[in-house]
Amino acid sequence: MSTVWILGAGASISHSKGTFPSTLRFLETAKSVGMLFDARNRLKPHLQSLNQYLDSMFKRSLTKGKLDINIEELLTYLEIDIERENSALFFEIQESIDNLIRDLLTILANPIAVGSGEYSTLAGMLLPEDSVLTFNWDLLLDNELGREEALRNPTTLFSGTHYGKMLYYQMATGEGTIARSVFQPPVDIPPMLKGNLIKLHGSIDWVYCSQEGCRAFRKVFPVLNYQSHNYCSECYSRTEHLIILPVLNKRYGEYPFITKAWRMASLILRSATKVIVWGYSLPPTDTYSRWLLSTMLGNCHDVAIINPSCVSKGSGRHTYSYVFLRPYYEILLRRVTRDEIDLYENFEDYVNGVTAATKYGLRVTPNI
Ligand SMILES: [Zn+2]
Repeated sequence: MSTVWILGAGASISHSKGTFPSTLRFLETAKSVGMLFDARNRLKPHLQSLNQYLDSMFKRSLTKGKLDINIEELLTYLEIDIERENSALFFEIQESIDNLIRDLLTILANPIAVGSGEYSTLAGMLLPEDSVLTFNWDLLLDNELGREEALRNPTTLFSGTHYGKMLYYQMATGEGTIARSVFQPPVDIPPMLKGNLIKLHGSIDWVYCSQEGCRAFRKVFPVLNYQSHNYCSECYSRTEHLIILPVLNKRYGEYPFITKAWRMASLILRSATKVIVWGYSLPPTDTYSRWLLSTMLGNCHDVAIINPSCVSKGSGRHTYSYVFLRPYYEILLRRVTRDEIDLYENFEDYVNGVTAATKYGLRVTPNI
């Protein structure tokens, strides 16, 4: 018996009571908290190139008008430009967006007390064998799972907690332990992975060495002070941050660490008896996520989807949102029956066992 949680941006938005932005509101939120301007209310110099890029690609400006730009789309355009033309300017813009993401997710997390809120409830509900797969870059859940203490105290590696196991089995920190420094022989049945935290798109506090030839090349470490520069302790070069874009699936292969995380995630899902998808919208183009959901095999006969988008309110009456649910059902119905999927409008409803059907008097299962 093991439950697997799959978390998307909506989970962090819900835990933060709406202060965390959606991908579409990211730049607008950065602007509203005053990150884009200096004390004299002028656009910060290092954001000038980004501003010009927004103008040329989206006809939008950081200084005036609406900023309804999907940050993932923006980063994807940049990647395509970098692929087309290896120009320093594009790298500079990319770096300024990376910094914005880190700084904004940090500023917005500051007022949120650790030990309270929905992620705290989730952390309390997790059994040792349960796992969390998250697409989020932020540290809200990491902090609820003991991140800071774990990074200060190396013995946490052996604690067997969700965060400790992540350090031990996934991070470079674990490779330094005696047990992991010895190669174990391959096994002929897939290992049962239990009790893991997997960050499928990286994390704002993960850094790695990008110097080929360095002993620590592409080894990933979580760091406490991720907003300052970090240096590789082997070759003394500046480390890079590791956050991955959902749309650029092909780049997963460039990061063996991320490829391993996805492999672990699929093994975890295969043995799950219950899967809960919270705050994740399944974009039709996100083939990797569709693949991941498809890896659920016969073990799972209990699925919950927690998302305000499960229901829509038209002409004063709530109904199931077929636009949102259809992509899920197309995949899930290959594995589970209609009755085995429960829909919840939000996390609180899930905790209280109030399905959308009960809450709004809808038919028990949507007719998809
Ligand atoms: Zn290095």
